Amino acid sequence: MKYLDEFSDPVLARRLLDQIHAVTTRPWAMMEVCGGQTHSIIRHGIDQLLPDGIELIHGPGCPVCVTPLEMIDRALAIASRPGVIFCSFGDMLRVPGSGRDLFTVKSQGADVRVVYSPLDALEIAKSHPDREVVFFGIGFETTAPANAMTVHQARRLGIRNFSLLVSHVLVPPAIAAIMESPSCRVQAFLAAGHVCSVMGTDQYPALAAKYGVPIVVTGFEPLDILEGIRQTVVLLEAGRAEVGNAYPRAVPPAGNLPARAMLEDVFEVADRTWRGIGMIPGSGWRLSERYREFDAEERFAVGEIHTDESPLCRAGEVLQGHIKPHECAVFGKECTPRNPLGATMVSSEGACAAYYAYRRLELVSL
Ligand code: SF4
Repeated sequence: MKYLDEFSDPVLARRLLDQIHAVTTRPWAMMEVCGGQTHSIIRHGIDQLLPDGIELIHGPGCPVCVTPLEMIDRALAIASRPGVIFCSFGDMLRVPGSGRDLFTVKSQGADVRVVYSPLDALEIAKSHPDREVVFFGIGFETTAPANAMTVHQARRLGIRNFSLLVSHVLVPPAIAAIMESPSCRVQAFLAAGHVCSVMGTDQYPALAAKYGVPIVVTGFEPLDILEGIRQTVVLLEAGRAEVGNAYPRAVPPAGNLPARAMLEDVFEVADRTWRGIGMIPGSGWRLSERYREFDAEERFAVGEIHTDESPLCRAGEVLQGHIKPHECAVFGKECTPRNPLGATMVSSEGACAAYYAYRRLELVSL
């Protein structure tokens, strides 16, 4: 495949690994913040090729995983209402709420549809003016611009039977929350490349300076990740709490300015709960006052739904690097991708699901 296979080139990978080994003099613990990176690291065994003592902590970077259980229950409650067409990307349909998932609700007669863009949901709203059409807008800064654009369009075109169930979260406040934790072991971050392609890198120097940690913007292919790790180790070894960019082909320093302007217009910062971690102040977006009439949570009055997580789940400890997924007693037993008990097993980008997919047999035979 042109333009992608090049980023898995084994000769170049070996060269980068040699450079990482050459520069490493002591143990370091760094966190990758993106679920796509976690998946790629485990899939390609990158963590097993690093020098002894370089530890990758799999952070809260999978958007499906960090969507709180109560938000899934709100989606289920809305989708079950008569007259509603509930639209979502396909990966949310099998994420279980307290008792069922969107697939189950669909099989019970609800009109749940998989779309490939929030704008598809807006088209459905246009062609069904007698129905309420809701799009489930989850994820990080990466997916938010398309959702913002859709609400902007709905308002501009006067399409009032469309609304957005918003569960957007922001990376920088999560980095701050992780560093504020008294038990934090993280000494550096591989920042999520796609988030930075939207938001740029200007939020990170202050974080790096405040917490004394290097932050290196990193992509998703094996060579991208190795280069991100190499730059991070160089900064760590030199004692420089600076921001690096190992993904310059996709991340300009200012990010995507039109997208950022759209986000500022449509959303405002709000407190958000992260599945597996809890509430982080100012760590998400909700619709701003100008667009509040398109907020599905208010339109359907589902804000009061609250749900408890399984007491068996240790996803919070996984996400903070205190344990690896297989050290959870129910990993691969009561908790599997088909029957996930917690945040990090619900999507293939979650750390528990990645270990289950690529390390299960190896871990069982230990
Ligand atoms: S294996 Fe399952 S129950 Fe255990 S921490 Fe991971 S998601 Fe939670």
